[in-house]
Amino acid sequence: MSPADLIELENRFGANNYQPLDVVLVRGEGIWVWDVAGQRYLDCLSAYSALNQGHCHPRILKALTEQARKLTLVSRAFRNDQLGLFYKEICELTRSHSVLPMNSGAEAVESAIKAVRKWGYEVKKVPDGQAEIIVCANNFHGRTLTIVGFSTEEQYRRGYAPFTPGFKIIPFGDASALAKAITPNTVAFLVEPIQGEGGIIIPPEGYLKKVRQICDENNVMLVLDEIQTGLGRTGKLFAEEHDGIESDLTIIGKALSGGFYPVSAVLSNQEVLGVFKPGDHGSTFGGNPLACAVARAALQVIVDENLVDNAAAMGSYFLDRLRQIKSPHIKEVRGRGLLIGIELLPEAGGARRFCESLKDKGLLCKETHTHILRIAPPLIIQKADIDWALERLEDVLKK
Ligand SMILES: *Cc1c(COP(=O)(O)O)cnc(C)c1O
Repeated sequence: MSPADLIELENRFGANNYQPLDVVLVRGEGIWVWDVAGQRYLDCLSAYSALNQGHCHPRILKALTEQARKLTLVSRAFRNDQLGLFYKEICELTRSHSVLPMNSGAEAVESAIKAVRKWGYEVKKVPDGQAEIIVCANNFHGRTLTIVGFSTEEQYRRGYAPFTPGFKIIPFGDASALAKAITPNTVAFLVEPIQGEGGIIIPPEGYLKKVRQICDENNVMLVLDEIQTGLGRTGKLFAEEHDGIESDLTIIGKALSGGFYPVSAVLSNQEVLGVFKPGDHGSTFGGNPLACAVARAALQVIVDENLVDNAAAMGSYFLDRLRQIKSPHIKEVRGRGLLIGIELLPEAGGARRFCESLKDKGLLCKETHTHILRIAPPLIIQKADIDWALERLEDVLKK
């Protein structure tokens, strides 16, 4: 079938909730993907940071296929030989006390919301039904009803009311707004260390440190959504380390499986996840042996291949070189590690047309909002590949 025919099938039978670039991919290896016609592209999106380890990493592939031949799913009605090892390895690596395994990112966010509410009632003694959670404007935490209910993106909410109550929205990057918004019924503050979908928005220096202090003073749980920023993306294992703090709950997903399979988790100090008793929460696929085997390998690759340090080194090189590009369209280049945003001027005519031109030159990336190009290649990328990408970016952005 021709690419045009395959695209036509997608358009005819699929729900129309995406508008992808018209490139039909058939194969991936490392930082590269190939389309139906054999054309090669450098993947600078990494499935929104789910592919930190690169496409089809051989070690994760091996873990997946070996486990898939043995045992894939038992449900949590029974135990399996991968779950305990996954728990131990992820807790040791992230210095967490306990972990709740789920599947998608949004599901892990929902799970964290349930946990902090229950903690609020049982430990903090908030009156029943009164728990409040503070979140930030311009957030992205996923697409379930509860989550889009506290989004400030009009399109994410339109047509989906009524929403779950109990959320308060404050500006991102403003610690004093958090201090003001807290009441005796506040159980948690949920925030991304860097707003990824929001446009690679980096908060002011020391923001998380202040936030940590305010949460401590008020017995409020600090919940960091590191689904996109975590597992090496920003040049630290977790973005919280840039501020030298530790969250109470950290939500991860995406790269936890290196792109093979949906695996997410809530990492916690004992106190918060300790509120769950048998039957309080669950998931048929959460913690299944295939997911655990894949996640164990995906984490091991991050460690063994030094992906965190490589993200730091390659990220600062990429950022420096991007900042040297003289373009009439660029307003600002910003980023941390290999999470980089190129904000275009309003006159540039939107980021989409640049993504289209880059695609024609063999580089795949995706606009976020209308005017920001996100550059987030797999963390295995090397300097020569970045130079290759820079040539194309410079070409397109100078025009
Ligand atoms: C992608 C993402 C989510 C949602 O994850 P899904 O797996 O798509 O449900 C939540 N929070 C952040 C910060 C994300 O980047």
